[in-house]
Amino acid sequence: MWGPASSEIDVTMHEYSIVQALFDQIEESARRRGAVAVHKVKVRIGEVAGVEVALLRTAYDTFRERTLCADAPLEVEQVAARWTCPAGHGDIARGRALVCPACARPARLAEGDEIVLEQLELEVP
Ligand SMILES: [Zn+2]
Repeated sequence: MWGPASSEIDVTMHEYSIVQALFDQIEESARRRGAVAVHKVKVRIGEVAGVEVALLRTAYDTFRERTLCADAPLEVEQVAARWTCPAGHGDIARGRALVCPACARPARLAEGDEIVLEQLELEVP
């Protein structure tokens, strides 16, 4: 059972569905390459991807038993949000308003909303 607050349950479900998708992707790669085990899983998680890394780890640890990933630690690379001017005036400094100081256009998120399976170490016989 999870925490009593319904918001906690929602967050947890979110991380679980992400991990489920991650495992689908891992299993697909492992099957394609005839792997018998996974030794490492590395993901890139953006700062504004809406993922709690601690919850993601918990979800991963719960799922990985009885899978090819049973002995594979999860490595998480966190990616800072980077906002940029859509007209090419460059990046907006961290902590500034999300408009371009040169042309006042609303900034566009260039990086930081990704959830990416970055690297897999597979054992292929
Ligand atoms: Zn601009």
